[in-house]
Amino acid sequence: MQNLVRTRMAPSPTGDMHVGSMAILLKNYAYAKKHAGKFILRIEDTDKTREVKGGVKAIQDIINDYGLDWDEGPGKGGKFGPYIQSQRLGLYQKYTQQLLNETKAYHCFCSKERLEELRDKMRAEKKAPKYDRHCLGLSEAEKEEKIKNKEKFVVRLRVPDNKNISFIDLIRGEIAFNSSEIDDQVLLKSDGYPTYHLAVVVDDHLMQISYVMRGEEWISSTPKHVLLYQAFSWQQPKFAHIPIFLNPDGKGKMSKRKGTVSARSFLDRGYLPEALLNFFMILGWTPKDQREILSLEEYVEEFDPRDLNKNSVAFDLKKLDWINGVYIRKLKIENLKLKINKFLPSDFPKDKLGKILVLVRERLVRLDEIEELTNFFYRDIDLDSNLLLKKADQMLVVEQLNKSLKKLENLEAWNLENLEKTIRKLQEENNWHRGQYFMMLRLASLGRKVSPPLFESIEVLGSEITLNRLRQAKDLINDK
Ligand code: GLU
Repeated sequence: MQNLVRTRMAPSPTGDMHVGSMAILLKNYAYAKKHAGKFILRIEDTDKTREVKGGVKAIQDIINDYGLDWDEGPGKGGKFGPYIQSQRLGLYQKYTQQLLNETKAYHCFCSKERLEELRDKMRAEKKAPKYDRHCLGLSEAEKEEKIKNKEKFVVRLRVPDNKNISFIDLIRGEIAFNSSEIDDQVLLKSDGYPTYHLAVVVDDHLMQISYVMRGEEWISSTPKHVLLYQAFSWQQPKFAHIPIFLNPDGKGKMSKRKGTVSARSFLDRGYLPEALLNFFMILGWTPKDQREILSLEEYVEEFDPRDLNKNSVAFDLKKLDWINGVYIRKLKIENLKLKINKFLPSDFPKDKLGKILVLVRERLVRLDEIEELTNFFYRDIDLDSNLLLKKADQMLVVEQLNKSLKKLENLEAWNLENLEKTIRKLQEENNWHRGQYFMMLRLASLGRKVSPPLFESIEVLGSEITLNRLRQAKDLINDK
């Protein structure tokens, strides 16, 4: 059991999960699966001021909506629970007490004002702000007195002086630091809640997490965690600090100012979860044979955090669109019908859904584009007489429309074969310029220059609508 790979994701319920967090979650999930280990979901809700209502459920839902799951955590249980930090307060207090007993931690009664003054003073002296250990000098009696008087206090870690310390980051190698650079960090706040630093170390230890893979923004916190592992004489997990995504234009950390960033928003825009996961896989990592399309199973088999790129990569939307298109085209029509359902406008002719999807699937990049790609099937089109007359004069186009109408009105059956045969025959017999005639028909019946194949489209459109549109086109030109 000792070597069991146990990874975790530890989100805070502070709002929609960032798409970058989902990408990190995927790595933790995959690495645990690869080693037949366990992936743990832990909710870090010790900052009650930032919590949003329904935040825990939102986290669970979005993970499931991406097709992923956790082995232990909220809703699942597990032998290291509870997995919600606010339900573990007694544990953090117990471990803080242990450090206090061993004089590895101390009470600090300094007021906010004093700490602010100290910070300003150090800044003015161009030093990095650090606590000056004022309360470390209190005698036992002074301390007892203050506690008796119900003075507010926090508990700080007593960071050892001038010790060289290091940890291994699986992506960056060894990272060394001197303990003197580290502040006597707060472990327990005055309201009895732990800080992130204490809670994350206690929980990662108690939950037997063997790999801590998290965003690189936490790298500056890791020395603090390492000091805590040492204070407790606990074995440290392995760390991997994963580069964050840059904005699609490659400039700066991916942020709301340059577009949506929540994991949910990408599903809402009609990206398939499988495509998004595939996209996350290949951002900053490539499988041995460099392929870009791979399934979750293949990723689980091949992924290793040691092979991740150290540099941040842009969230390349063009690549995501391409991958999404590949996944859309892989879907069976029946399946695509189910997935696209919630993106259909209310006036979409559901009875024609399958046939329309077959026609537009090639050009469908995101599911939310369905309306734009198909509205000419069920909404009035804008006919533009100038376009209809672009390549031929009025007389010729009227003749073409008249002859086409006559033939199509008398078709025995409105099906692809008859339509194609009839229209091609008209063109050949009359010696009309094929490009001009077909484009004119496309514009008159579908209202756009670029569309799915002409014959298939008018077959789906049906005789009534098609013939009406051709008549309207004729009237429009005659009125000119
Ligand atoms: N609660 C932190 C977050 O919201 C977890 C950081 C970590 O993985 O250690 O991202």
